[in-house]
Amino acid sequence: MQRIQGLHHITAVASNPQANLDFYVGILGQRLVKTTVNFDDPGTYHLYYGDNVGTPGTAMTFFPWQGMHRGRLGAGETSAAAYALPKSSLSWWLDHLSANHVTIASMGKRFGETVVTFPDPDGMMIELVATDDPSTVQHWEDGPIPAERALRGFHSVTLLLNDVEASASVLVDKLGYELVGQEDNRYRYKGASADRGLYIDLLHVPEAGRGAFGAGSIHHIAFRTVDDEEQLEYLTHLRASGLQVTPVQDRQYFHSIYFHEPGGVLFEVATDEPGFTSDESVAELGSALKLPEWYESRRSQIEAKLPAIDRDAHSAKNQD
Ligand code: ZN
Repeated sequence: MQRIQGLHHITAVASNPQANLDFYVGILGQRLVKTTVNFDDPGTYHLYYGDNVGTPGTAMTFFPWQGMHRGRLGAGETSAAAYALPKSSLSWWLDHLSANHVTIASMGKRFGETVVTFPDPDGMMIELVATDDPSTVQHWEDGPIPAERALRGFHSVTLLLNDVEASASVLVDKLGYELVGQEDNRYRYKGASADRGLYIDLLHVPEAGRGAFGAGSIHHIAFRTVDDEEQLEYLTHLRASGLQVTPVQDRQYFHSIYFHEPGGVLFEVATDEPGFTSDESVAELGSALKLPEWYESRRSQIEAKLPAIDRDAHSAKNQD
């Protein structure tokens, strides 16, 4: 069985779809690559942002539940999602964030790289990691950020844990990650590829309390697996080790299995195939509400319930 290559996508909760879209598209320059609904709650959007085609390792997805109360971060959660950017673009990004009224929460060095941390409109922590060697993505030419400045997919995620040992064991022994660094209470694990979304950081905070789930909370992180066959091997292997893994779910753009790692974070293993171009062309990605076939007969009721969003609001807007 192949080792896990890296992150596939990150899924989080938002409270307002337009504010979410304005931030991820207008400010971070990510493309809205799919507009669909929460398959378990079709009255809510499921918005996917990524590079030009939503390449695995660039996809950030949200359930914007209107009026959702804000979550409070706690142990057993993903505490930050980091994008990679070329080191030469760091000062440009600081100016860009400032011009868009994004408040920097902190800035410092981590494993020798500069990390800038700031909240999205729901308080979810986004980090930009300035690296010498950012991976390549398929640039969105019609987006608001020039190619040489654009974010290059995920760098890493950070999991906030009371205890790291059992979680590390799942990463290393079950998913094939390797420990590549430690700084204070932060342990860095690396996936098998040399490309996007390579790192998982475990932050050991024994005294951290439990959080409260809500807007700004990261619901789960998904790891990449190449195809259905490899995913089934993971399903068997993870169940054999005693983890409670769901059956394969059809998420339309990938197939998924889910389990809670011992620290409490919900993990998913998702297939690279079929991807976001399975039901619309590259040029059309995100431009129309896509529904899985089992909801098509209810399209008019579903559309009537969803709040209107302006998908073309590319220009950065004030977030306050
Ligand atoms: Zn997912």
